[in-house]
Amino acid sequence: MLYLVPTPIGNLGDMTQRAVEVLKNATIIGAEDTRHSSILTQHFGITTPLISYHEHNEARRTQELMERLRREETVAIISDAGMPGISDPGARLLAACIAEGLPYSVLPGPSALITGLIGSGFPADAFYYGGFLPPKSGGRERELEAAANRRETSVFYESPHRLCKTLEAAVRFLPGRELCVARELSKTFEEYRRGLAPELLAHFTAHPPKGEMVFLVRGLTSREWRDREKAAAGE
Ligand code: SAM
Repeated sequence: MLYLVPTPIGNLGDMTQRAVEVLKNATIIGAEDTRHSSILTQHFGITTPLISYHEHNEARRTQELMERLRREETVAIISDAGMPGISDPGARLLAACIAEGLPYSVLPGPSALITGLIGSGFPADAFYYGGFLPPKSGGRERELEAAANRRETSVFYESPHRLCKTLEAAVRFLPGRELCVARELSKTFEEYRRGLAPELLAHFTAHPPKGEMVFLVRGLTSREWRDREKAAAGE
């Protein structure tokens, strides 16, 4: 049986009891970074062996882990933090399992994507997740332009080193649009900073951002959306 097991995104108290039990009872744990994850396993008294399972060995490891799953061993996959498979390894092994009809389960648990989305206060009934914003300016600008035309909230992961560049682009591509930087979620310096691009740019230029962050763009309002539809239909 394969288990995808989410782990805390900053606060060890967010580890679920079931996640601990599954990791304790697994034959092996595939971890993105075994040294990083050994801190977690030691904290929770989990003695199951860890092997590396990351983007550079995912293809080879998938074959090895599939052998174990065919032998009815219990394999658990964790990433450095949050939900495996969301901008993290895990999806390839899961797809292989599905293709062979082998049993699997995904444990519910922490993810920066969902936490940031809800905490932003932006509509969350429908949303777009774009992963990490592209590091190059062309790709990033295309993503922001697409977000400007979207009805749903757009959610991205962003690096603190690039945030100000993104906000500079947002001044041009997202005028008048409410944005949110959700930072250090579940940690001591958790912060949700909402505002228009020029306000956020001024703030983060004066206070260079640190830590991990989610960048969110509020979608078009119903009225803005209707106006665009009408304009597109030539009404
Ligand atoms: N699979 C993970 C998840 O479900 O949240 C995401 C992995 S991705 C490689 C790591 C990125 O998630 C970080 O660079 C940051 O953008 C975001 N992130 C992770 N932890 C965070 C936190 N505590 N606060 C804000 N963003 C976080």
